[in-house]
Amino acid sequence: MKLTEADRGQLIELAKLEMELRKVINHFKKLSETDPAEIANKEFLEVSERLSASRAEQEDMELENKRVNEDLELVEARILRDQKLIQESSNSSELSGLQHEMETLSKRKGELETELLEKMEQQESVAAVIGQLTAQKQSLRENLEHVEKLHTQELTSTKAELAELEKTREQFLSTLPESVSEEYQRKAKRGVPVGILESGACSACHLNLNATDLASIRATAIDDLTNCPECRTNDNPVFYVQYAHARTKQVDRNAPTLDVDRSEFDPALLSEPSESELLAKLAEFPRVVTQAAEFREPHRVARYLEEVAGSYHRFYDSCRILPLPAREVETVHRTRLWLNDAAGVVLANGLGLLGVSAPERM
Ligand SMILES: [Zn+2]
Repeated sequence: MKLTEADRGQLIELAKLEMELRKVINHFKKLSETDPAEIANKEFLEVSERLSASRAEQEDMELENKRVNEDLELVEARILRDQKLIQESSNSSELSGLQHEMETLSKRKGELETELLEKMEQQESVAAVIGQLTAQKQSLRENLEHVEKLHTQELTSTKAELAELEKTREQFLSTLPESVSEEYQRKAKRGVPVGILESGACSACHLNLNATDLASIRATAIDDLTNCPECRTNDNPVFYVQYAHARTKQVDRNAPTLDVDRSEFDPALLSEPSESELLAKLAEFPRVVTQAAEFREPHRVARYLEEVAGSYHRFYDSCRILPLPAREVETVHRTRLWLNDAAGVVLANGLGLLGVSAPERM
């Protein structure tokens, strides 16, 4: 697919727009998933509960006060009655009995008055707490309304921003050749459709590309569209598996030029973690196919192939299958070439079972 300079400029603008769009989309997602009232609401409920508790306490106190007051009135009435009796009495034993009772009553009166005073002080402090809590509740309610309003505003403005960016994207797309625009929209369904390669990293998937991938991108003609291997691998599992297969074939093609043959195989040399992982993964193939057939679940093969591709990519990235040019070929290189072949065979057979092509080059 050949692009004009103007088209390339448009695509670069689109890549920047996509970056901006992702940011806004993520922000919008986060906004719609958070309930702004949640924290504020919790505090509001806490204060409300404390307020009701204080009010209940206040009611209990009022009842208590009433009781103490009534007792006090009774004691005072009896004191008045006894005083009257003392004035009227002439019987000395009766008088001493009355005076004794008076003393007891006075003492009781003093106690009740002290109790009442204490109760009134407590009541005042509860009333103060109630006043504070009421004010706090009111301000929390206002805060809650404010926070909710802000959240709604931000949600609305983010949505508008999103719509604006999407409109701009449409406008950009309409100026591109139809085939490019179609490809763009197809890719957009799976993820970020276009990215800028900057300092070896892709702006669409944010991954650093390895030297091989960078070299192959550099080899692409400037007016040609090329794909970020990391982007595609992440977005499209079929591609991910096909790409792994194509890589095994690329290694196979390069082997003779570096004098690596299959004259030796020493499995003891496959001691790297990624090598053991790939070996173990490949060994699962017969069992996975049998089970997929037994349970009539072809997706088991698909999922397995993705795992094989993952293991293969890790092996490819962490182990040197072929030596550097002009370096001596060792047994480990020949052994790794066998492992590379085995991965290629499993990937090709697996893709074949699923009716998907296993390309030699991508
Ligand atoms: Zn990418």
